[in-house]
Amino acid sequence: MTALAAAPIVERIETMLVDLPTIRPHKLSVATMQGQTLMIVRIYCSDGIVGVGEGTTIGGLAYGGESPESMKLSIDRYVSQVIIGQDASRVQALMARVGKMIKDNRFARSAVETALLDAQGKRVGLPVSELMGGRRRDRLPVAWTLASGDTGRDIEEAETMLSLRRHSIFKLKIGLRPVREDVAHVAAIKRALGDRGAVRVDVNMAWTETDARLGMAALADAGCELVEQPVQSVAALGRLVRRFPIALMADESLQGPESAFELARKDSADVFAVKVEQSGGPFNAQRVAAIADAAGIELYGGTMLEGAVGTIISAQAFSTFANLQWGTELFGPLLLTEEILETPLDYSDFSLAVPAGPGLGIALDQDKLSSFTRDGSLTVTRASE
Ligand SMILES: [Mg+2]
Repeated sequence: MTALAAAPIVERIETMLVDLPTIRPHKLSVATMQGQTLMIVRIYCSDGIVGVGEGTTIGGLAYGGESPESMKLSIDRYVSQVIIGQDASRVQALMARVGKMIKDNRFARSAVETALLDAQGKRVGLPVSELMGGRRRDRLPVAWTLASGDTGRDIEEAETMLSLRRHSIFKLKIGLRPVREDVAHVAAIKRALGDRGAVRVDVNMAWTETDARLGMAALADAGCELVEQPVQSVAALGRLVRRFPIALMADESLQGPESAFELARKDSADVFAVKVEQSGGPFNAQRVAAIADAAGIELYGGTMLEGAVGTIISAQAFSTFANLQWGTELFGPLLLTEEILETPLDYSDFSLAVPAGPGLGIALDQDKLSSFTRDGSLTVTRASE
């Protein structure tokens, strides 16, 4: 028997859309979310091992070009054709093959890479972090996003999080209201929290450059420590950075290694919000981090408001970063009303524990998942020859 014949192959792929309610409306400048849809992919291998991955977006198509429905379609119709029958244990080689045959579709590719890494980790008995070079930390600081849109309610929510010792870093979603109103909202929250909580804002590109000049100066005065993607263009970010005593973080502009290099080359950010899905998968997220490190740009682990699977692949990847100066915002599962894991994640002491078991180190509650699955799941098997 040859080595190739003995290798575990990808036998079939299952995808499903899981619609879950959120604990409260999540208000962003681009959309108001009342729920979250997880695109779950399962990769079944010939050695009996099953890997799971997830794709999510923020507000359907409000954030970018992919939706959970489009990810499902890309995988069902196209990715499956590239990976079924291939060696499941050669994750990087297989993803390079996918990259060659399927352009863009970073979120769908990220979900598939996650499932392959989960399967490989289970196969060799190691957490994904160890397959990615080894974790440097077992817990990650987690920020909480205050996005109810109401100042009083946001302060109450922050106080609850502080007393539960779950979060002490707060990110405020702003950009919907006039700049002065938004700044007053942020200042009131920072005043209420004082030194007990750090306050940052995410404008989700809603400001003009003029708004941003006014806003960043006022936010710095209010004690806000960081502003995330105030404007859309990289050129405008570059004109704003380091003009005010407040850190400037790139998020939407950061879409994988090439854009990371471009942002670094144009000196357009103090901090990168690295997101596994936006990067095109966990390995690309590591490449983005390496570019940031080389350019002296600081790092923050971002979220697409993923459920447990997307959150944990992010945690596994971020745990390997040499630098993670601004912590993470991996709170996605806490925004959902339903627990979809057999054992819930450990959010305590203002941080999330990176699971230590093989693969992602988590197990989905199948009954719970099934009851929220839209129109059943679809399985693609190898075409008969
Ligand atoms: Mg953001």
